[in-house]
Amino acid sequence: MAKRNFSSKRNAIYKAVCDTKTHPGARWIYDKLKPEMPDLSLATVYRNIAVFKEENMVNVVCSVNGEERIDSNTTAHPHFVCSCCGGVYDINTNDNAHNCQTEILDKGFRADKKFVLYHGICPKCSSTDCTN
Ligand SMILES: [Zn+2]
Ligand SMILES: [Zn+2]
Repeated sequence: MAKRNFSSKRNAIYKAVCDTKTHPGARWIYDKLKPEMPDLSLATVYRNIAVFKEENMVNVVCSVNGEERIDSNTTAHPHFVCSCCGGVYDINTNDNAHNCQTEILDKGFRADKKFVLYHGICPKCSSTDCTN
């Protein structure tokens, strides 16, 4: 019984990660699922995220305010992190990353991971006063 509980929580946590584009952290997942799962603990969320990372079901994008932000899309793609609201966004251009990759190959490096991260202010925060 305990085991079945764990597994249904695990599915719900993974589904919550897949269903959002926000690149959530443990706290976001916890807040989202807690109303439907009153016995969910933050520790359970952390434990399951650790399993997802181990099994390469998610990638860690970055750390915002000390909390890891994860992505269920494990193919390499650039991200933009807003230093104002802490939002993590997918960036749909590969131009710069591609050039960089070419130079890496030219110089004889062999990369097996590509990690492109932009830091700055997102459009939403540019147009409003930052409350952070
Ligand atoms: Zn922002
Ligand atoms: Zn992403």
